[in-house]
Amino acid sequence: MKYVGAHVSTAGGVENAPLNAQKIGAQAFALFTKNQRQWKAKPLTANSIDLFKRNCATAGFAPEHILPHDSYLINLGHPETTGLKKSREAFLDEVQRCEQLGLNYLNFHPGSHLKKIAPDDCLARIAESINLALDQTKGVTAIIENTAGQGTNMGFRFEQVAAMIDGVEDKSRVGVCLDTCHTYASGYDIKTFAGFDAVMAEFEQVVGLRYLKAMHLNDSKKIFGSKVDRHESLGRGTLGPEAFRFIMNDPRFDDIPLIMETPNDAIWADEIKMLYGFVEK
Ligand SMILES: [Zn+2]
Ligand SMILES: [Zn+2]
Repeated sequence: MKYVGAHVSTAGGVENAPLNAQKIGAQAFALFTKNQRQWKAKPLTANSIDLFKRNCATAGFAPEHILPHDSYLINLGHPETTGLKKSREAFLDEVQRCEQLGLNYLNFHPGSHLKKIAPDDCLARIAESINLALDQTKGVTAIIENTAGQGTNMGFRFEQVAAMIDGVEDKSRVGVCLDTCHTYASGYDIKTFAGFDAVMAEFEQVVGLRYLKAMHLNDSKKIFGSKVDRHESLGRGTLGPEAFRFIMNDPRFDDIPLIMETPNDAIWADEIKMLYGFVEK
């Protein structure tokens, strides 16, 4: 079965995320466990943690269908000592928050070399950052998201994703989230069924399907290969609906969180209905 949802608001506390997901008819959801634009956050309260778990159970969301996302400030491949240290501390805090919430995953953008170190060194740094966080925690899998390749962001080629995984010591606690907008904008043509199928064959060969733990379902405002990361509502961008029809009918995407980060939250319920409507009986 397919588990579709969206990256929902946590306004008023993380415990509201499952309720917000339930309201739009989601079977999965993503959330920030702290303000994504700030370095520091107050620890989660025992009450908030308890309510989060209770609301997830009541609404029927299992941990394997919940995909927390880390702060945009974190750069696990930061070329400078201070920035790297700050990022690694913040990332550890994010993994610990997931642990506290009883969650299995933490999804993140790998990092950027900022033109100050070689791309390969940046990839090695990211893998080491993941190792450091995993060493100090239990039960949470680090989910590397592929990127559009904007600026000096790493992770826009499957080979780069594979290199990061290669550097992670505990392979049982690392996975991948493919974002359809990023995949298309970075130059993998998933617009048609045949194109998507070929890209998945390439992913299987270069990375390995066993690492695919989640998807972000976003259309793209910018053209194929633009390397620009701008999400659009499903079917309304340059990617179009066929990619999403493909996902909804391919068993490789069964039982993993399929999360929209589309710009118009007023139509998320409709987008979810549309996606389930794509499933051919
Ligand atoms: Zn994404
Ligand atoms: Zn994006």
